[in-house]
Amino acid sequence: MDMDHEFDIGPEDAAWRERAARFAADHVAPVARELDREARFSKDLVRAFGAAGLIGATVPEADGGGGASYLAGCLIAEELGAVDGSIRGFLAVQRGLVIQPFLDHAPPPHRERWLADLIAGEAIGACCLTEPEAGSDLGGMRTTIREDGDDVVIDGEKVWITNGNVADVLLVFGSVDPSLRTRGLECYLVPADTPGLRREPMPGQDLGHRASDHAHVVFEGVRVPRANRFGPAKGGYGVAMAGLGDGRLNVAAGAVGAHRACFEACQAFTRERRQFGKRIGDFQQVGAALADMYVSLTQSRLLVYHAARLADLGKDNAAVVSAAKLAATEAALDAAKQAIQLHGSRGYSDELPLERHYRDLVALTIYEGTSHIQRVILARHLLGKDEGPKE
Ligand SMILES: Cc1cc2nc3c(=O)[nH]c(=O)nc-3n(C[C@H](O)[C@H](O)[C@H](O)COP(=O)(O)OP(=O)(O)OC[C@H]3O[C@@H](n4cnc5c(N)ncnc54)[C@H](O)[C@@H]3O)c2cc1C
Repeated sequence: MDMDHEFDIGPEDAAWRERAARFAADHVAPVARELDREARFSKDLVRAFGAAGLIGATVPEADGGGGASYLAGCLIAEELGAVDGSIRGFLAVQRGLVIQPFLDHAPPPHRERWLADLIAGEAIGACCLTEPEAGSDLGGMRTTIREDGDDVVIDGEKVWITNGNVADVLLVFGSVDPSLRTRGLECYLVPADTPGLRREPMPGQDLGHRASDHAHVVFEGVRVPRANRFGPAKGGYGVAMAGLGDGRLNVAAGAVGAHRACFEACQAFTRERRQFGKRIGDFQQVGAALADMYVSLTQSRLLVYHAARLADLGKDNAAVVSAAKLAATEAALDAAKQAIQLHGSRGYSDELPLERHYRDLVALTIYEGTSHIQRVILARHLLGKDEGPKE
């Protein structure tokens, strides 16, 4: 099947896809299982990723990036996602939740200090939104931001922060007035060595994304200059939403990659494996499962590419991104479960990457807004504001 013909992908975007596929094959595939088994985050892999020009691929050339389209960004995430969820997850955070706010809002000195290093993979960033009592409900944040002369003082606690233990710089969200909920949020850049910042690995072993780093971060009287604020006063929610828009699209595209990997593995295996004297794919139930996997893969792909193309046209794509994240992550998770089933006991072992895709994909339906929350966002878009009963 000619993928480019099917999806109308031009040569420049295809070249980015090839570059990502090569990187995934040469650098990620050989170490993915070992890093997962050892639950080890690899800074070397991040540096290689940056050196290959893939972290900043979609950053404008004027800002030191590769100037690639959003569609190319999705193709990169897809290729990485086809091989490993942890490094693809790193990209969603570093590019979407950290570099995007830098591009949109960083005051010039911070931009000069950090942006090039973040793009090169020489510096690592983290984005601190989630708290023990505020996950989906960002307006319920309890981290406080208090002005003190030319500084602000941050007190609070964050959980599940990707890159939190290895980050050089953290973007920290908190509230200047909790009664204002999302309208009281602000975002501050906090270098990792700032006094009062403590971090530790999350307790327990994660189901998936084991080669990612997840931290519990505590802020006790953390003092940074007021000039470290990203975005306008009380404008933190907008900063978070712009970053999440980019991140969610990356997550959806990564899910397409994992889905594709599961589908292709099943296609090959159900052609080769024989039972009862036949290819197992020729049993109706197995063939139908393969067909369903292909249909849902194509649906996810079309939604993700559509969302990316809207962004490339400069159009608002928030609702389509939510639809793409919802559909692609849920469909990929179903496909991974089915892939394990179709491989029989082989699929149950990490000799094959299917069970790792399955474990990683569960998280894709949770972070950057759960599937429930994507439905909430979509319903809001579809219904619009309640104007009250008609006279
Ligand atoms: C691997 C991983 C990496 C992560 N990385 C980061 C990171 O880098 N930075 C960061 O800040 N956070 C990160 N998170 C946290 C993640 O964003 C949150 O876990 C997520 O937003 C959900 O919040 P919660 O876990 O508190 O669940 P809750 O918000 O408590 O939700 C619990 C359940 O209730 C449902 N629910 C909640 N509200 C509604 C509603 N209005 N309607 C319907 N259902 C609802 C949810 O969908 C969910 O099923 C990460 C999480 C994981 C697993």
